Amino acid sequence: MSCLTYLSIGSNRGDRLGYLKYSFERLRLILKSLTFSRIYETDPVYYLEQPKFLNAVVSGYFSGTPYELLNKTQEIENSAGRNRSTSVSRGPRTLDIDIVLFGNKMIKSSLLTIPHPGLKERKFVLLPLLELNPVLKDPATNTKLWELLIKLENQGIYLYNTHGK
Ligand code: AMP
Repeated sequence: MSCLTYLSIGSNRGDRLGYLKYSFERLRLILKSLTFSRIYETDPVYYLEQPKFLNAVVSGYFSGTPYELLNKTQEIENSAGRNRSTSVSRGPRTLDIDIVLFGNKMIKSSLLTIPHPGLKERKFVLLPLLELNPVLKDPATNTKLWELLIKLENQGIYLYNTHGK
């Protein structure tokens, strides 16, 4: 049985757009009916002294467990030159893939938290997520995600336009 999952993708190091496109191509091979949001350029949160990110959300059907999906997304991050040993926590990264939602599953373990804990506070996740599915709810609380989005303050999110770049 396959499960509809939503992944948040980010890059703020090197060829950001190239890394996002690379992740779309790799994810196309493991998720059925892959759909992706528009791309946003976003100011860093948490660790502020770093370049702006490009962010997007993709969705698709995965046949396997959330842990199997995590293995695959980490393999994609690693093959995009992500170096966990030298990187600052929450600092610049070539490619970051977070599992935001996995059907209505709720998981809290040492390896995985689903829904992703950043979901409710990060506009750069909520905005593209709602673009793909405006009626999504937080499976933990049943709150409509658009209601969470409109309560958040401005976080510096701009539609990324490749025209002329
Ligand atoms: P990061 O440095 O942001 O890529 O965090 C990676 C770590 O977060 C990995 O060790 C994962 O096991 C853990 N993690 C916990 N929940 C999630 C999730 N929903 N999606 C991706 N990674 C997760």
